[in-house]
Amino acid sequence: MSDATESLSRRDLHTEQELAQGKATRLLIMGPQGSGKGTQAARLAEKFAIPTISTGDIFRANIKGGTDLGRLAQEYINRGDLVPDEVTDAMVKSRLSEADVADGFILDGYPRNAAQVTALDGVLADLGWHLDGVIELTANRDELMTRMAKRAHIEGRDDDTPEAIARRLDIYAEQTAPLLAAYSQRDLVVQVDGTGDIDQVTARIVEGLAAQLG
Ligand code: ADP
Repeated sequence: MSDATESLSRRDLHTEQELAQGKATRLLIMGPQGSGKGTQAARLAEKFAIPTISTGDIFRANIKGGTDLGRLAQEYINRGDLVPDEVTDAMVKSRLSEADVADGFILDGYPRNAAQVTALDGVLADLGWHLDGVIELTANRDELMTRMAKRAHIEGRDDDTPEAIARRLDIYAEQTAPLLAAYSQRDLVVQVDGTGDIDQVTARIVEGLAAQLG
């Protein structure tokens, strides 16, 4: 085993031991569309045995199930706009009150603007919880556009039209990216290069988190 691999697996173990000791881990994962957030969130959730809460997935499940929430969200989503904060905030608050998140969670896709940061702070404070880390996945715009085009082809999501993609990337740059500065001031951000092999990116995140949580 190389030194680098050994030190990575030792730190990895450290993180897992902390989790095994019942230390709940509450994480956000942020990054522009196409940065691989969803993929990495699912892997981390499995690795750390904590649920992922993806606001996009919850909305899509509601659209598919024909619920009132789904009907309300659909037009915003198809345009690439944010669903109104009061709707999204209530949905996340309710999800965070479920039993399975008591040992930690990874929030993917929330918060996406400053008002949602405040709302999340309030919910966590009420629960007596605080965030342990914010993973920021980075990738350059060319890489993002290539991945989005590929995904649009494979998944056929209604909001993967060129207009809705452009709108979502704009909203990310204008409203979501600035939130990282605020979380940075709280010393929570673990910035990770999201380009390269999926396994490699996961290893980088685990290493960054071990340093953050350790
Ligand atoms: P992407 O990151 O590719 O935009 P998501 O699955 O995270 O995909 O989100 C899809 C859509 O769901 C968003 O464009 C938006 O309409 C809605 N959505 C998801 N999260 C939020 C949020 N935190 N606030 C408002 N709308 C949201």
